[in-house]
Order: sequence, then C-alpha cells, then structure tokens
Amino acid sequence: MSKTDNATEATRPSNFLEQIIERDLAEGRVPDNNVVTRFPPEPNGFLHVGHATSICLNFGLAEKYQGECNLRFDDTNPEKEEQVYIDAIQEDIEWLGFKWAGNVRFASSYFDQFYEWALHLIREGKAYVDHQDAETMRENRGNFNKPGVETADRRKSVEDNLAEFEKMRAGEYEEGQVTLRARIDLQSANMNMRDPVLYRIRKVPHHQTGDKWCIYPSYDFAHGQEDAIEGVTHSICTLEFQDHRPLYEWFLENLPVPAKPTQYEFARTNLNYVVTSKRKLKRLVDEGLVTGWDDPRMPTVSGMRRRGYTPASIRKFAEMVGISRTDGIADFSMLEHAIRDDLNTNAARAMAVLNPLKVVITNLPEGDVQEMTAAAHPNRPELGDRTLPFTRELYIDRADFNEDNSLSRKKFKRLVTDEYIRLRGSYVIKHEETIKDDNGEITEIRCRYIPGTVGENPPEGVRPRGVIHWVSASHGQEAELRIYDRLFTHEAPDRGEEDFLVHMNPESFKVTKAWVEPGLAAARPEQGFQFEREGYFVADRYDHSSEKPVFNLTIGLKDTWASKAK
Ligand code: ATP
Ligand code: MG
Repeated sequence: MSKTDNATEATRPSNFLEQIIERDLAEGRVPDNNVVTRFPPEPNGFLHVGHATSICLNFGLAEKYQGECNLRFDDTNPEKEEQVYIDAIQEDIEWLGFKWAGNVRFASSYFDQFYEWALHLIREGKAYVDHQDAETMRENRGNFNKPGVETADRRKSVEDNLAEFEKMRAGEYEEGQVTLRARIDLQSANMNMRDPVLYRIRKVPHHQTGDKWCIYPSYDFAHGQEDAIEGVTHSICTLEFQDHRPLYEWFLENLPVPAKPTQYEFARTNLNYVVTSKRKLKRLVDEGLVTGWDDPRMPTVSGMRRRGYTPASIRKFAEMVGISRTDGIADFSMLEHAIRDDLNTNAARAMAVLNPLKVVITNLPEGDVQEMTAAAHPNRPELGDRTLPFTRELYIDRADFNEDNSLSRKKFKRLVTDEYIRLRGSYVIKHEETIKDDNGEITEIRCRYIPGTVGENPPEGVRPRGVIHWVSASHGQEAELRIYDRLFTHEAPDRGEEDFLVHMNPESFKVTKAWVEPGLAAARPEQGFQFEREGYFVADRYDHSSEKPVFNLTIGLKDTWASKAK
C-alpha cells in the first residue's frame, strides 16, 4: 500500500457522523474549519460503559478532524449533583486517554446568560410565567389525540410576565408553584413544542453557584444555548433527544445566540448482562450491594479500571460497537473479548498457585536456590525476563497431580504417580512418593528433578506428560485473590417486570488465596498479568502492596459464559 492509500484509509468516514462532518467541512460550513464537539455529563453519578462510548465518539471525532472537544458538566439539576461525581468524571476521561479543550466547563457558569435570554423571550412575547402545578399542566398540555388547552396565564402582558419572573427569581414562590414556559404551540404534534418549561423553582443550593439562584433552567432551555456559547459545531446526543431537536432549533432561532450548532443523534450503547442507568447503579451502591461506584463488578469506567480493564480495551470496544442510528444490544462478551485480547498481547506472564500442594525436591539440598529465567511474555522479548527461584520446597496446584497413573496421557497432561512433568520455565521432575495424613488426604508429594532439562529436551525415556505452573514455597509469597464474575446472571436484568436486583449473581465475588512468584509482590498497583493457566489478574489499585499483595480477576482465559449459554 502506498503512502497516499494510507492517508485515504485514515480519513475515510467510518460512520454517518463522520460523513456529515466531512460534508460540512467540504461545504465550508464549519467556522475556521474547526470541528468542535462536547461531552456533556450530568454530575449525578459515575460514568459507565455507555458514557465511555460517547466519550470515544466525541473526543475521537475531535482528534480525527484536529478539532476540539469540550468537557461540560450539564449541571442544571442541583439536588442530584455532587462534587465527587465531577472529580470522578474528569479522572475517568483522562484515564481513557482524552484531553478536553481548555478548562472544564459548567452549564451553571452560563446561568446569568440564560437568565438574560429568558428575559429576552418574555419581552418578545415568547415566554410566560405559568401558575399551573405539574399535574394540571400535564392535563392541559393534552396528548397526541387531545389538543392543548390555553390558560389565562398564556395571554398575560409582557409587563406582567416580567414582574412575575422577577418574583420567581427573588424566591417569592415556592417549588412547584410556578414555571416559566416558552409560548410556542399548544397544538403541535410534537409534545416537546407544547410550551415547554424553561425555568423551574428549586430552593436548594447548587454545588457551583451556591445560593445565588432558586430558579434553574430545564435541560432543553440550556443545552443548545450552551453549545452555541461554546461554538460547538456538532452536538451529538442519544436518540431519545431526536424529538427535542425542533425545540433545540427553536431556541437557537429565537435567541440572539453567537453561533448555530446542529444536533445529531446516535443510538445509545446497550450491553447485555449489565444495567447502565445511573439511577440503578446508584441503587446498587446505596444499598451496599457493591462496595462502591468503582466496585470491580460495576460497568462504570472506574469499576472496569479497578477490575483491570485498560483504556485501550475500552476504546477498542467502542470501536467494535460502532456508531449507529438504530438501537441494538451489544453482547457483553464483546467487551470481554476486547480486554482479553489486549491483555493477551500486552500483559506479562506470571505464576500463581491457587490451590497449593507442596512438592519436595528430594535431590535439591535445603537452602539451595537455582535461579531460573523466564520470559515475561512469550512473544514480546522487549518486556524482558523474570527470575524464578527453584528451591527444595515448591507448590503446584492440587489439580495438577493425580495418583492414578492409568489415566490416559492424552486426557491428563499433568503429573501422576511415578511419572514426569515439566515445570514451566524450569526442570522436568519425576514423582517418587506421595505423603498423606491420617484422613488419607495428600499433604505433600516428593519428586526428583532431572538435571540438564532446563530449556532442553529430556533424555531418552523421560516423557513428561505436559507443563504445569509452580512457585517456590520459600521464595514465593501469599496473595489475596479477589475473584469476580458478572454481576447479573440474566442477560436483560432490567427489562422485565421484576426488580432487576433479583437477577444479581450470588457468585459474583469470592475471596481466595494464592501462592505467587516473587515478582508479583513487586507489581505496581493496576499492573495487569496473565497468571499462567489461570486467568488475567490486576494488582488492586488501592489495596495491593508488596507486603500484602492483592490481585483482582480481570477475566478468565476463555469465555465460560458462552459455553454456559449453550
Ligand atoms: P443515564 O441514563 O445513565 O443517567 P444520561 O444520558 O442521563 O445517562 P448524562 O450524564 O446526561 O447521562 O450523559 C452524558 C452523555 O453521555 C450524553 O451525551 C449521553 O447522550 C451520553 N450517554 C449516556 N448514556 C449513554 C449510552 N448508554 N450510550 C451512549 N451514550 C450515552
Ligand atoms: Mg442525561
């Protein structure tokens, strides 16, 4: 492929939004050719995997077209919002590898401007203060089959409305008593156009503006204007806002805004086996069913991070899901595939024995240490080597020894009585003796190592059945392993009549111990490994230390859910 082919390849639009942006650029419709997108989370929860795809989309488009992506907190709902969420969201976006343009922005920093624009609409006769309570308003708004009913407030004078709105702002009305509404069209087929609410009263302090306001703009009255103020060129949201687009445009047409952004919609990312509603995730946290928003079982960005997912794997997943205009449900195994693939390529190999059986090497004197060298990764020499101390006492996994040596070599490729096995990265050993306690339980086995077999074929007549993992008893260390599985056993936990909590997987979390090779204690928090023959694990972000190693199961080596499903 030539250089020019490569260039075309890189810029070829891969989804309908890229096509739109390229058309807009070609037709000179983008001011200064600077594509500006934004990611506008409401700080009322942690980001989840669905948000991650939206982040990859918005920041990804800005990257692709050398534009900018703003991070803007859509903080128009003070009662549900908190600073911890603001901090967590920023941390998550940075961790995913994206950088927003300029400072973090807040819808609340435009409240003065929104207020001015509300006055503007009132003066133009396009907004009025309505004294109906929510129930009556809903009734009078009608529905698809029932026309809206005009009330007296709708016919009030501009002066009256200005005075009433001032009373609203000054706190003279209670919550729910009055609202400011746009005067658009009570007969519109689009319910969003039937005089939508612009401002409502909320007598709660705001995390950014304190006690300055007791009236707060609605999402609809805020979003497009925020985009206009920031010079956003392509405002991308999920499909449920499609019916709000005429309203988004109505505000831009009827207000003296500095720019005219356009809203586009794409399908939200739905994943089976998880819930991605912030309200439901919050319930799991509030009811103590998980340890927090960043519990490794949570589909939150911080949960996935703690579980050992990498930014690259989440970005890869977003790419696999793609951008579409129709709703669908992505399979959770796609996400798991993305992380398994990444770790298979990038994670260092290490050995951990989960269910230890002591092996005494009878022909190695006590105190002798032979240092074996193994590659950190079979196909990545640049990742270097690790040292494995081979000592008189070792641990292998109980499942790797069976007394019965009549088992076929094909079926049981592990150690049996009187036979040979290779220890990964080390010697071939031969079983000599099995020691049991009074209950007949095997407590240790004794073996002999075959000199000259490290990295070499064994001599004639020595036929190891396979290769097993091991760890020095004297030089290894005990570690805590946190074994996680999917949080829900049902593929659509929140789509039935029943409460989604009934579908929680009772086996989603177990703690166990393992004996790990010395290098693992030295791992840095968040470092991922493949524990050979066991799975992918990550050193816990908070609890791991070299004195007390703690590893979380990221994902098994194989997709066990696929076989369960069959
Ligand atoms: P939730 O339903 O979890 O409360 P939300 O849409 O209310 O989500 P916001 O904080 O408003 O949460 O979302 C910020 C941005 O992320 C919005 O632009 C929204 O469209 C996008 N987003 C939220 N959920 C998804 C999803 N599942 N897939 C894709 N984008 C999403
Ligand atoms: Mg929202």
